[in-house]
Amino acid sequence: MPVSLPPVKRLHDILPEEPLLMMGAGPVPIPAPVAAANGIVINHLGDTMSRVLEQVKTMGRYIFQTETPWLMGVAGPGSAAMEMAVINLVSSGDRVLSVCNGFFSSRLSEMAHRVGGEVERLTVADGHSADPEQIRAAMQRFKPRVITLVQGETSNTTCNVHLPEIAKIAREHDCLVIVDAVCTLSTMPLPMDEWGIDAVITGGQKGLSCIPGISLVAFSERAWECINNRPQPVAHWTLDATLATNFWHKASYHYTAPVSGLLALHEAMRLVCDETLEARYQRHRQCSNALQGAIETLGLTLYVPEAARLNSVVGIALPESLTSAQVCQHISHHYRVEIAGSFGPPIVRIGQMGEQCRAHNLFRGLHALGSTFKDLGVKVDVPAAMAELENQLQNQRQHSL
Ligand SMILES: *Cc1c(COP(=O)(O)O)cnc(C)c1O
Repeated sequence: MPVSLPPVKRLHDILPEEPLLMMGAGPVPIPAPVAAANGIVINHLGDTMSRVLEQVKTMGRYIFQTETPWLMGVAGPGSAAMEMAVINLVSSGDRVLSVCNGFFSSRLSEMAHRVGGEVERLTVADGHSADPEQIRAAMQRFKPRVITLVQGETSNTTCNVHLPEIAKIAREHDCLVIVDAVCTLSTMPLPMDEWGIDAVITGGQKGLSCIPGISLVAFSERAWECINNRPQPVAHWTLDATLATNFWHKASYHYTAPVSGLLALHEAMRLVCDETLEARYQRHRQCSNALQGAIETLGLTLYVPEAARLNSVVGIALPESLTSAQVCQHISHHYRVEIAGSFGPPIVRIGQMGEQCRAHNLFRGLHALGSTFKDLGVKVDVPAAMAELENQLQNQRQHSL
């Protein structure tokens, strides 16, 4: 019997009539030039692509703040870039210290384990940044060859604010540093060379405000030397960083690159460069702070204390009467705003990455959030919160003039 086709709808009939405002933990809204570039297909090899790649590498070195030539893209999610960093730098039997703040940093430890690394997990309690002295002690005792950690743990909205000290300690112990900056790159400072980081990972759909499915990874010279001296080639052909240089450095074929995604990434990176890193960091800091203040004015509680709080994704503690699914469904159906639940803690999360950090999106998002809690029976002060958001943004505008 041939397989018959059940009824299939047009995409148009499935998508919401009016696009939802993406204020979750990614993907985030994309600017028009990024969307336009994503609609173009060009030859994956040849002069035009070479010029695009040169610019992506040049802009990447600015955005990652590094002189390394070993910056390259990956066809795949942020997780593919994580895997590319881990499997190229960790060989079977290597000791790996994995700082686990939550869901994504634990994913790095799982990846290191799967390639045969001897992994020690240093678990950090929710609401805290990893402690450099604890890491120093683990370095002295365990003597890892590689340490993995996140800059921002999107899942529970904590930030590893001591990352520079941790990277310094790792270097003193001759240990390679892999940092996941998927949600933080271009939203807050991460000077790769100055902090001595050996592999920085990012994805398209968060801080960079690009599409999902195209990612970047940068290896330091020190990391590259280790890759060149591997006892064996990596087991994953597609994620082999040495093979990836065929495409990224020698204008030849590794696999067919996601050309539209690369063009979109080019445009997303160009917008970051046009804005400048300093202005972009400031915009993120100001918008996120204003939103945090306004959420507290609503009468809600932020999940992470200020000292360890991530700005790129804001976590809001839920009253016991509500589940994150209830809140997310209500805000989506009634206000056409998407926010994120969580993997674990009883919170909902609002993203402050790239295009999410715009005053008009903040006002719409905050109004939707406040109204949702009110609709669901939580006592919140929506007008006061809206006024607080306006006041904070206005103060900041005055200060930055
Ligand atoms: C989203 C995220 C990832 C995973 O990215 P995917 O594109 O979903 O694979 C990894 N790390 C952090 C910190 C993230 O925020």
